[in-house]
Amino acid sequence: MTLGEFDLIARYFSRDADARHPAVRLGVGDDCALLSVSPGHVLATSTDLLVEGRHFFPDVNPRHLGHKALAVNLSDLAASGARPLAFLLGLSLPRVDPPWLSDFSDGLFALADEHRCALIGGDTTACTGPLTVSITVMGEVPAHLALRRSGARVGDQIYVSGQLGDARLALEHRLGHITLPNAALTVAQQRLELPTPRVALGQALHGLASACIDLSDGLVGDLTHIVNASHTGAELSEQALLASCGLSQWLPRAFPRDELLRFIASGGDDYELLFTAHPSHADAIAALSLHLKLPLRRVGHITEERGIRILDTQGHPHPRVFSSFDHFSPRP
Ligand code: ADP
Ligand code: MG
Repeated sequence: MTLGEFDLIARYFSRDADARHPAVRLGVGDDCALLSVSPGHVLATSTDLLVEGRHFFPDVNPRHLGHKALAVNLSDLAASGARPLAFLLGLSLPRVDPPWLSDFSDGLFALADEHRCALIGGDTTACTGPLTVSITVMGEVPAHLALRRSGARVGDQIYVSGQLGDARLALEHRLGHITLPNAALTVAQQRLELPTPRVALGQALHGLASACIDLSDGLVGDLTHIVNASHTGAELSEQALLASCGLSQWLPRAFPRDELLRFIASGGDDYELLFTAHPSHADAIAALSLHLKLPLRRVGHITEERGIRILDTQGHPHPRVFSSFDHFSPRP
């Protein structure tokens, strides 16, 4: 390896543009970066770890990996209703591969620039284990307006943004469990590798959403976090959930609906927002959906009865229990 640690950081991960970001008092190169937050705001911060072989395939396009590593973190900011400011990048590299690093940093900075989120520091090390990327993101949110998991109330409606299940379909194809036609595969793969963090939606939900979470581990599991934190339960409509998968039309006619429901309910990697809102906000949410050109689909409501039930059109609960993705359990 001819490229040293500090050359590598200077070449791929430090840019004048980031040092000039209005919130950045001091960027890459010192012991600490210095960041300012607007008056009346609090700092929102979150971290996510991506491990080769666990969160991404070793042959993933490095540009896509750079995008996704930041996207999953921005998605956490979105779920809190925060505006992105800056991030820290931890890299544990089994090899130094300049073209790979160049593509990775291109993908990373393209998304960072789109959200005006500055790279202000990090840590870089060589390793013998799998390639690991860890990003810590920082944003700001008006004090008292941050969206939380604990605010859902009985009678609130449950919404999801965008489409669900696409990323899981791409994964199932890659694992050889299903075969998608090329046109659908392209869309599904895009959704798996290049998720769009719903940052504008999160900020627009101030005052509308009573609770919010981003869908990373699967809808039922993530909704469980909301109902548990809010001491409530939920009923979901099987029909609305199935309708939320835009790619279902590409599956063979005989494809079992229960399998599709499983991809939607516990698929994971959607990076859409799930939020709850009082029924009086229904019109405002419909208007927001038009404004953002993003589907905001009502899929159920919050109940006093604890637990989560998926009901068919006759109101019968689905017999199957849908668990979410857990790194310490087998894949659902
Ligand atoms: P220290 O030893 O004080 O922790 P380092 O020598 O590890 O600092 O890093 C030097 C500078 O480079 C620091 O400002 C650090 O934040 C930054 N840095 C290290 N790795 C990265 C990275 N992957 N991306 C951006 N900045 C980085
Ligand atoms: Mg260090």
